[in-house]
Amino acid sequence: MKMAKNWYPMIDYEKCTGCLTCVNFCPHEVYEVDPNPGKPRVVNPENCVEFCRGCQRICPAGAINYFGDS
Ligand code: SF4
Ligand code: SF4
Repeated sequence: MKMAKNWYPMIDYEKCTGCLTCVNFCPHEVYEVDPNPGKPRVVNPENCVEFCRGCQRICPAGAINYFGDS
């Protein structure tokens, strides 16, 4: 499994509702919850699996895009 710094999620905080579905879904500890305002933040981008779109697919708000996506 390839882990990469050239592919990781970027959250659109205007769209993000703070449901934390993405945080609970990702098994690679890419995310952490920022207690204020209770939204996810990307703390371990190097743990993200290259070309994985798992969290993007399940985000109900369409708030996740990827650095490295063209
Ligand atoms: S799944 Fe989407 S809306 Fe929910 S916390 Fe993550 S980025 Fe925000
Ligand atoms: S793209 Fe995959 S590995 Fe990367 S943060 Fe989302 S669920 Fe985790």
